[in-house]
Amino acid sequence: MDKTDKASVVIVGGAIMGSFAAWFLRREGFTGDITVVEKDPTYQFCSTALSAASIRTQFGTPVNIHMSLFGVDFFRNIKDIFGQSADIGYVEKGYLILGGPETVETRRLAVDMQKAEGADVVALSPDEIAARFPYISVEDIGIGTFGATGEGWFDAWSLLSLVRGAAKDLGVRYITGKVTGFDIVASRVSAVLLENGDRLPCDWCVMAAGPASGALTSALGQALPVTPKKRTVFSFRAPLKAGNFPMLFDSSGIWVRPEGEGFIGGIQPPADQDHDATDDFEPHHDLMEEVFWPALATRVNAMEELRLERSWAGHYEINELDHNGVIGLHDEIGNLVFSTGFSGHGVMHAPAAGRGVAELIAHGNYTSLDLTPLGYHRIRTGSPLPESIIY
Ligand SMILES: Cc1cc2nc3c(=O)[nH]c(=O)nc-3n(C[C@H](O)[C@H](O)[C@H](O)COP(=O)(O)OP(=O)(O)OC[C@H]3O[C@@H](n4cnc5c(N)ncnc54)[C@H](O)[C@@H]3O)c2cc1C
Repeated sequence: MDKTDKASVVIVGGAIMGSFAAWFLRREGFTGDITVVEKDPTYQFCSTALSAASIRTQFGTPVNIHMSLFGVDFFRNIKDIFGQSADIGYVEKGYLILGGPETVETRRLAVDMQKAEGADVVALSPDEIAARFPYISVEDIGIGTFGATGEGWFDAWSLLSLVRGAAKDLGVRYITGKVTGFDIVASRVSAVLLENGDRLPCDWCVMAAGPASGALTSALGQALPVTPKKRTVFSFRAPLKAGNFPMLFDSSGIWVRPEGEGFIGGIQPPADQDHDATDDFEPHHDLMEEVFWPALATRVNAMEELRLERSWAGHYEINELDHNGVIGLHDEIGNLVFSTGFSGHGVMHAPAAGRGVAELIAHGNYTSLDLTPLGYHRIRTGSPLPESIIY
């Protein structure tokens, strides 16, 4: 495998995963050619631009916690990394995840594990929740877990603009084009093929096409169970000041957090409506009146009087095997590297994923955080790494 200065990398997809991989390749000392192929330079429909852009350390899988901790550190130091004018609007107001009485024991064990891995998470009793967040009803609640530091939200578009601009400054080439196929020679991707007939020879190919990664990997004759699933975001005003309002994950399944002068929130559709949503960006309007609003008003009474301002839908890139990202080398195609399938937690994990991809290509192995548990081997063998805390 060519790891020399002359090696060339073609990255498929130029949003948050592709751009962080490109930028970190330069940071890791890779001096070869890097080309990022992006079909839509406006990024209108990419998951990154449509994301809720929040970061949590409350996960059930240690590797996800460590990826988040790296993301938190990265966001806190964004000005040192990208310059004093860099601003992604990062705030740390915590995730408050509510559970019923039947969840208390498992949730406390999860908090113990998260703390042991370095996360600053506390378990709150219903009384403690009511004292800290008096606008939340706790009658049916047994526990709330809260990220006291190291959890919050930011502006994903600003982050993408920063890392993409910085990658370009370091000589990364972004081209507009739709990848439609690949040339494979001797179990390696020898070239990436574009719809307009162009052929991009490569020593390494990085799959960072988000929700389209599963379909594109099929074009390589390989399996990757990543499917686009629609998630609707409702943006609304309510007669309640944001104050210390956290990213709230309710036991009903809804989530809500402050955004600007108002709030955003959502809920995943019922399983029988949660199909492959390729090319479908029509919001699930029914969910607002029938599910989201009633549940929200029950939990936060002031939300009874919310005023919907707009809705949009984006695609989660759901890894159907276990709802975790797929990072690292394919087991047969020796120069194909994945950075995809994050199933709704990709923006927060993009810095750690990009660094991992860059380490693999530039050094031949992970040199900081070991991302092996998220490798392709589990797709091949059907061995899930289950993530218990998913939304
Ligand atoms: C409603 C919603 C809320 C979310 N909330 C959060 C959150 O709070 N926190 C969090 O961390 N994550 C969240 N996510 C998930 C997060 O947005 C994604 O995990 C992340 O953006 C994935 O980044 P990506 O670069 O892999 O994919 P994308 O951003 O989709 O980028 C893939 C790129 O590949 C390009 N592409 C696709 N096919 C081709 C092709 N054939 N040729 C060339 N280019 C191609 C696309 O145009 C696109 O720009 C949310 C997602 C949604 C939809």
